[in-house]
Amino acid sequence: MTATAADWHAAADTLTFRGEALIDGRRVPAVSGETFASHSPVDGRFLADIAACGAEDVDRAVAAARRAFTDGRWARRAPAERKAVLVRFAELIRAHRDELALTETLDMGKPISDSTSIDVRAVANCFAWYGEAIDKVYDEVAPTPSDSVALVTREPLGVVAAVVPWNFPMLMATWKVAPALATGNSVVLKPAEQSSLSALRLAELALEAGIPEGVFNVVTGAGPEVGRALGLHMDVDGLFFTGSTRVGKIFTEYAGQSNLKRLGLELGGKSPNIILSSYRDIAHAARTSAGSAFFNQGEMCTCPSRLIVERSVHDQVVEVLLEEAKGFQPGDPLDPATRMGALVDDAHAGKVLSYVETAREEGAIIATGGARTRPGAYVAPTVVDGVRNDMRVAREEIFGPVLSVIAVDGLEEAISVANDSPYGLASAVWTDDLTTAHRVSREIRAGLVYVNCYDCDDLTVPFGGFKESGIGRDKSLHALDKFTELKTTWIRLG
Ligand code: NAP
Ligand code: MG
Repeated sequence: MTATAADWHAAADTLTFRGEALIDGRRVPAVSGETFASHSPVDGRFLADIAACGAEDVDRAVAAARRAFTDGRWARRAPAERKAVLVRFAELIRAHRDELALTETLDMGKPISDSTSIDVRAVANCFAWYGEAIDKVYDEVAPTPSDSVALVTREPLGVVAAVVPWNFPMLMATWKVAPALATGNSVVLKPAEQSSLSALRLAELALEAGIPEGVFNVVTGAGPEVGRALGLHMDVDGLFFTGSTRVGKIFTEYAGQSNLKRLGLELGGKSPNIILSSYRDIAHAARTSAGSAFFNQGEMCTCPSRLIVERSVHDQVVEVLLEEAKGFQPGDPLDPATRMGALVDDAHAGKVLSYVETAREEGAIIATGGARTRPGAYVAPTVVDGVRNDMRVAREEIFGPVLSVIAVDGLEEAISVANDSPYGLASAVWTDDLTTAHRVSREIRAGLVYVNCYDCDDLTVPFGGFKESGIGRDKSLHALDKFTELKTTWIRLG
């Protein structure tokens, strides 16, 4: 049965949420008793009072995680047993698809079709993938002289904290929680204030799947309280953050001021997307580029927000962008036909639109959009033309549906504009010339390079950035390194 908008609205009206934290296997209020109200950007409806936790709650969660780690209730289970539990967890997530998808959409405004077919699906796959992987990775015996044996083994870090944003609330958490749990760590997760609900539900389902109490804790609350307490905690062994570059830099200070905990940072981007005249289907390139720029309301760390276009095809590209933008006019997030929903909240919508205003003042042309389509967090897909790479819209991450078009004269200028950014997360080039494709791929300083596509996605490849876009990689088997320590054990023979 295919659900209609009316079905989703009816389901939304009956869904209720609990906002207590989840510590040591139990739902608990903040020690202070304080809460904050969560409202939906979809229609302003009240969702839940969320526990406004602080340092004391973090202490409790870290202590629970440490107890669980030390007694080995999860860490010392055979990898095949952890696999069985994680695969069961993935199945449980799939069985709760509609509830989780609705939670995500109500909490942060993305279209229900995306929540069901992308977010929940990817979250379940990720837990299953790391579960299935973990009993297939071997440790090493080093090629030492024959009078000794040296074992190189991996051990879990111990207590791992994850601090995540609101754009893919469950998925960004899962990219950390899944490999962390698979490798035997205990986890304390802090979701973003705007999107705490799906993380809490996920941790409840984890218990149901058989992940022992204390192994997966969720502490809700403000970044400068909960996130800071985790960052400064002396008993957290690793902190894995996804969010802005500004806050990522603060986490490096926390680590230095405390126990030098291991850091993983997945930060912002201002990704360049180069369309060259040597590509056979300019309209296709422009259509795909618009789709990727407006996907998830532009609230994407990999959003191809700088479209660098060879001048000879500029007019054709812009014409297609304007046409495509029409298909992304914000709609009811609970309608399965909607391609673009609400931004995360009204304040963020205001911030996004202030960038458009700045662009106008700096002399760029607002070719379409640049305004709310209705009160609240609904912002029209926006194309800004005539952008120079030194304008604020080209330098700063907007995290909304704003696409800047920068015209260039040829490949040299395209590469130099692409690299002229403090960020280095994703990038793309559209060309049918093999040499050009390889050259751009080598010369662009970014963790991801797409050739003749954008947002190709698979768990099998590493994800993360160069430069100020971060440190380390999520996804793929490489992520297992982040959540483990290498230990060398020498054994003298004879
Ligand atoms: P953000 O403001 O950096 O917040 C991210 C998380 O950090 C939230 O949980 C936040 O808590 C917490 N936080 C804020 N200030 C803190 C502090 N002083 N100390 C400790 N924790 C603190 O980012 P956002 O606005 O939620 O998300 C958008 C950003 O995430 C963008 O820059 C985007 O590019 C980035 N992102 C990157 C990736 C990637 O993989 N590279 C993926 C998705 C998003 P609150 O709940 O209080 O806000
Ligand atoms: Mg919310």
